[in-house]
Amino acid sequence: MEFAGFLGNADLKQRLSEAFRTGRSSHCYLLCGPEGSGKRTLAKILAAALQCTEAQAPCGRCHQCRKVLTGNHPDVITVDDPEKKTVYVDLIRQLQADAYFRPNEGRHKVYVIPRAQNMNENAQNALLKLIEEPPSYAVFLLLTDNAEKLLPTVRSRCAELRLEPVPRDQALSWLASQCPKEDPAALEAAYVRAGGYLGQAKTLLEGELILPQTAQFAAAFAADDRFALTQLLCAMEKLPRDKLLEVFDQWKQLLTNALTVRAGLPGNAMAASLGQGRTARSLAAAANTVQKAMEACDANVGGGHICGWLAASLLE
Ligand SMILES: [Zn+2]
Repeated sequence: MEFAGFLGNADLKQRLSEAFRTGRSSHCYLLCGPEGSGKRTLAKILAAALQCTEAQAPCGRCHQCRKVLTGNHPDVITVDDPEKKTVYVDLIRQLQADAYFRPNEGRHKVYVIPRAQNMNENAQNALLKLIEEPPSYAVFLLLTDNAEKLLPTVRSRCAELRLEPVPRDQALSWLASQCPKEDPAALEAAYVRAGGYLGQAKTLLEGELILPQTAQFAAAFAADDRFALTQLLCAMEKLPRDKLLEVFDQWKQLLTNALTVRAGLPGNAMAASLGQGRTARSLAAAANTVQKAMEACDANVGGGHICGWLAASLLE
């Protein structure tokens, strides 16, 4: 199976390739991962692989692939109503009715449920009936950022594909190609803040949500550079309170993410980023310190005091 443009996730790709090569692919996949982790991209690749007419599927060039990849294939059907937060049973009933009709032109009918965790219990039970005895040509791709919200009976029928953060080097070179104007520190900060998920990192960079102060903070903190940090904080003393809060909020998220990644993903290249050379304890202490600074902002303490206090407390 070809995964052009889908970075990282080596184990998952290996598993899928093997399943497709030996004709043992599942008729129901659960794609799990946080926002921006590549669930939709992977769903598209899977749908293309299912419809592709070439030997090395998905080839990305045949008529079927092109239709899937441009979102124009009549047999790749998204099941969602963005107007409503909950996915109700009527939507699944429509799917059920549609599934009795054979594909229009593809080999399969692929149903993509992008917010599977938002199906209520009725909807999930209706879906369960269908995936227990599906028409031979039907494949279901359930996307979720919270697999725990699905009934165990539904989960047990799905092959679970867990999306993982992309290793640092691959991610940074991809981000550099996507955002050539950004400086490396900003790319690094976006990567860390997004917990290694490319879609999230790119959104952060495109939205220019990584403040320059955050990029500088990440670099200074990682290097344990007290002088750089003091300089940065001195320059921030005159910022208005709401701006300070915005900056501190990013710092806190950045520290918290670095901590999570460190705790949950041992051996991942993530350790090379913000948390490199820092103990989990020092990351947690810094997050706590930044939290206190935010509370001081809320309590109308002057920016000069807060920044001075941070300069003295952050790198202990
Ligand atoms: Zn193809």
